[in-house]
Amino acid sequence: MQETSSTQRPGKVWFVGAGPGAPDLITVRGSRLLAEAGAILYTGSLVAETVLQWASPDCEVADSKSMDHAEVTAWLLDRAQRHDTVVRLQTGDPTLYGVLAELARPLDAAGVAVGIVPGVSSAMASAAAAGECLTLPEITQTVIFTRLSERTQMPERESLVSLAAHGCTLCIFLSIERIEAVVENLIAAGWTFEAPVVVVHKATWPDEELVLRGTLSDIAMRCREAQVDRQALILVSPALGARSQNKYRPSKLYDAAFPRRFRPAREEG
Ligand code: SAH
Repeated sequence: MQETSSTQRPGKVWFVGAGPGAPDLITVRGSRLLAEAGAILYTGSLVAETVLQWASPDCEVADSKSMDHAEVTAWLLDRAQRHDTVVRLQTGDPTLYGVLAELARPLDAAGVAVGIVPGVSSAMASAAAAGECLTLPEITQTVIFTRLSERTQMPERESLVSLAAHGCTLCIFLSIERIEAVVENLIAAGWTFEAPVVVVHKATWPDEELVLRGTLSDIAMRCREAQVDRQALILVSPALGARSQNKYRPSKLYDAAFPRRFRPAREEG
């Protein structure tokens, strides 16, 4: 392993969002840091390995799949002593459903500088893959990112039933294995069996993306048929399917009669 030329030690550890899968969906800043990094630790079970194409050929690249928390911490602390730039590469956006705070704490305590580079979350990538919008004027203006409780206990006031009762857009992470329970919770919250649902598996992964569409009555069966039981995002929203329906009133934003700062109101006719 080559050590990078020393400027200051320890170097800086960057938590970089890899984006959802496609290598060109990492940010320009993220790919620049991968190119500069002397060492990269990525979550092999989640990050598409094609994203590593931005790393320099002599960079040390390791997979944290089989490491525990203490091993990941030790690895990052050790590599920060040898390189100016160390990257912890995480799927989507690193501030969502990762353990960034837990991993940054020992680095902070050791006086290692930490930086965070945002990424395209799988919630956004899934909406784009399905050609859907997460908000729709006058229909829903709120998006909730959530998950079912499992090994990670949910705070009591954030049960899926109570969140789903708002009727707004839900992006449900980490819950595809329990799609039946998701459906039960949504029905208990007042959604109908006809409500549309989109499940996106491996959004933007080259050759692996799969978009499943259904309703609350059949989405569990569709997932089972397609053998989608991991790495998928569940989108539930009154905005789903809006492009194929004309019943919605257009937004005031582009209404010709509605004056905006840079566009005077136009006369009708
Ligand atoms: N930080 C990530 C989420 C990590 S938690 C982000 O911002 O996207 C892992 C969960 O994210 C998976 O269980 C799945 O629900 C979702 N996920 C991650 N990558 C995905 C992808 N490419 N397509 C669909 N869902 C994905």
